[in-house]
Amino acid sequence: MPLPPTILANEAIKTGVVICGHGSRRPTATRGFAELTDRLQAKLPGIDIECAFMSLAEPDIPTAIARLRAKGNRRVLAIPGLVFDGDHARKDIPEALARYSTSDPESDIRYGRCLGFESRMLDAAGERILQAIRCSALDIPLSKTLLIVVGSGASNDRANAGIADAARRLWQRLAPGWAMPAYVGASPPSIESALEHAVRLGYLRIVVFPCFLFAGILWEKILGHCDAFARGNPGIEFIKSRCLEDHPGVIDTLIERIFELSEAKDEATRATADPSTPSILPSDDPGLESEAIDTGDALSEPGAGEVSLVGAGPGDPDLLSVRAMRLLRCADAIVYDRLVSSEILALARPQAQMIYAGKRRADHALPQPDINRLLVRLARQGKRVLRLKGGDPFIFGRGGEEIATLADERIPFQVVPGITAASGCAAYAGIPLTHRDHAHACLFVTGNRKNEEIDLDWEALSRPLQTVVVYMGLVSLPVICTRLIEYGLAHETPAALVQRGTTAAQRVLTGTVRSLPAIVERERPRPPTLLIIGHVVRLRESLAWFDPGKEIDDRGI
Ligand code: SAH
Repeated sequence: MPLPPTILANEAIKTGVVICGHGSRRPTATRGFAELTDRLQAKLPGIDIECAFMSLAEPDIPTAIARLRAKGNRRVLAIPGLVFDGDHARKDIPEALARYSTSDPESDIRYGRCLGFESRMLDAAGERILQAIRCSALDIPLSKTLLIVVGSGASNDRANAGIADAARRLWQRLAPGWAMPAYVGASPPSIESALEHAVRLGYLRIVVFPCFLFAGILWEKILGHCDAFARGNPGIEFIKSRCLEDHPGVIDTLIERIFELSEAKDEATRATADPSTPSILPSDDPGLESEAIDTGDALSEPGAGEVSLVGAGPGDPDLLSVRAMRLLRCADAIVYDRLVSSEILALARPQAQMIYAGKRRADHALPQPDINRLLVRLARQGKRVLRLKGGDPFIFGRGGEEIATLADERIPFQVVPGITAASGCAAYAGIPLTHRDHAHACLFVTGNRKNEEIDLDWEALSRPLQTVVVYMGLVSLPVICTRLIEYGLAHETPAALVQRGTTAAQRVLTGTVRSLPAIVERERPRPPTLLIIGHVVRLRESLAWFDPGKEIDDRGI
């Protein structure tokens, strides 16, 4: 792996690195972390590297930075030695760095990203799990193996979503019978309930993989539970995988994080973890020096910001565009809607300022004019702002209104399309929206009511040989179906309601325009839901391929 050119070339600012770990009462865990840092040092010989711990072990973060400073490093790159950005990465480490900066205003300290669970880390985890399975003398097929991916369980959903996502990716990669997340901390499912569930499902082998770097006290707890379950279930093989430890994939990912941070634009790494936390970092720029211990808002050059209006797709994070992903990774502020899944939010930089803008039916967290003004204000503070919306921003997303304000205010912006709910839900439900034999056109409409009336061209919607997709149509579904029949649509025309399309909670209710209202009344699907009407719905009988939830098909009713 090439060394970060800025670290090597930039002799004017000598730069050191501190890798910040969690700390453990278990000496083997802290020793393992220190050895990991040694291996990293061996790979980057020209740079001073220290390890530090948040608690329970020495040195603490300020002491490690002071050591780097004593060796003449003016700039320090702090990298969280953590897989996911839970509270430690978002709050505790930035706070420790901020405290240090206040005591040493000459220092220039920058904060990077957690390791995350992308390609190298995924490979590393996969290898650890397969190593553990290979040690078994039993010949049990992978299809009879259940994988439990254990995380520590954070109070913030984003870190927990990271573990769930890791389980999903490992399932895709290794193809065990099933993979599920579990947490040692307060968040459900606990390791005990995951083990109980796994036993009930009848798997012959249960592999427990701790998704941490090193085995601390939490791991001992997990081992205790596994052993108790193994004793009570002699017919099942329990395998405990090693942690990620100093796997080469971990080391390479740390190098990548160092590289990334040394290359990052100044303002990107100086933002705060939490808008309420004082920001870290004085800077080289005398113009910014006086604002160093201000809130995040004051940190960037006024007027240099820009807004990206980005579609996050219908839910499955794998449906994000490459550009959306790239922007998510470097945004300073993210203004997001309710429909953006927590798995997608988990991809943001830990330092990014996260602002929830709504909206649920009848619950607009921020009224539209306030959102428009907020985007302008954040951009004027010099931030790279990501306005993240579910689906596509230009399809029932008010994207046009938001950029109109930006255009008026001469704020630079770009629009990144996303996969709209109609495409995402139709694809994952096995319903082609057009088809040479069944539908030559496809209409997207909204079932939202204005003053109790649905303002739609019923005549146009009732024509044959087309597909009608209704966004926001759950509440009005009975009225929509009745009106279409009144205007001449055959009552046996197939119709489907897709709940939470493309996610693990996807569920598809199918029927006809006559039967669907009763099915929906009975099954009470949870929003968001999308209504698809037309003969193409019937193709699902042979084309359905993604069905995580229970399917209801009552076409005969
Ligand atoms: N801009 C979005 C639509 C916003 S309107 C897009 O292009 O998809 C919100 C409506 O979209 C919801 O009421 C629902 O009808 C639909 N929707 C969005 N995501 C969905 C999903 N995952 N499953 C089903 N419907 C969804």
